[in-house]
Amino acid sequence: NLLSDIIEPNNIGVTFDDIGALENVKNTLEELIIVPLKRPELFSKGQLLKPVKGILFFGPPGTGKTMLAKAVATESGAKFINIAMSSITSKWHGDGEKYVKAVFSLASKASPSIVFLDEVDSMLGRRANPGEHEAMRKMKNEFMVHWDGLRTKYKERVLVLAATNRPFDLDEAVIRRFPRRFMVNLPDASSREKILKLILSKEELATDVDLQSLANMTGGFSGSDLKSLCLAAAQRPIREIIHREEEEKRLARVEGRPEPPSRGSEDIR
Ligand code: ATP
Repeated sequence: NLLSDIIEPNNIGVTFDDIGALENVKNTLEELIIVPLKRPELFSKGQLLKPVKGILFFGPPGTGKTMLAKAVATESGAKFINIAMSSITSKWHGDGEKYVKAVFSLASKASPSIVFLDEVDSMLGRRANPGEHEAMRKMKNEFMVHWDGLRTKYKERVLVLAATNRPFDLDEAVIRRFPRRFMVNLPDASSREKILKLILSKEELATDVDLQSLANMTGGFSGSDLKSLCLAAAQRPIREIIHREEEEKRLARVEGRPEPPSRGSEDIR
């Protein structure tokens, strides 16, 4: 059951090159996680450089936190295990404790591996939650115990990466276990331009498209919003062609003319 949740590094499908902007975060992750995972022998001597066991990405929705976690796994050749609250409730019928145990046992066997918790606040939120479910509390404890028990060797590593839009809902005990935290904020104008360039890199754009001014017009947009905008824009000429064809057919019917053939794709732009 759980095996289907493990993704081999070659099948994750996200690399650093797919992520626009966020250069500082990418550079730090390279040094902090990717190089140690790829070259553990460089870190095996000495005591100063200890491997981290947990990294937290926080910031508004759609800013690339999940992409970063996936890309780190791809770039470092680690397997990716995505933990979702939804699969705990659906596949494990609420038995989160068993699920957590199985995940960590699998992650160790599959090491080097990255366990990713999206919306970590929903799983490891504040302990003092009034009315917190007993099952939930047990699952959280189970998670902490396994997490603390992870070997801190550079070889055979298991690393917990997590993302949240609500860092303030995490309890102290959880925050402490993420010694490195990355704020992934909404992109500024120059980052938006980079993201737009990346999203549109394989598209055929009209000659008057100016990505810089588009970036200036989209203040407050996340990377995900920019992607939606581009999808909508790509859809528009197609919708217009269909609409035009239908209009022509309607006119032809009214006037008793033969129906015009459908247009080829060269008419799209
Ligand atoms: P959430 O908090 O909603 O889970 P998130 O921060 O994890 O969001 P992602 O799932 O990583 O965001 O990004 C959503 C989508 O937005 C991506 O699949 C991608 O298409 C686009 N996107 C976001 N940020 C970037 C970026 N920096 N470069 C390219 N695409 C991006």
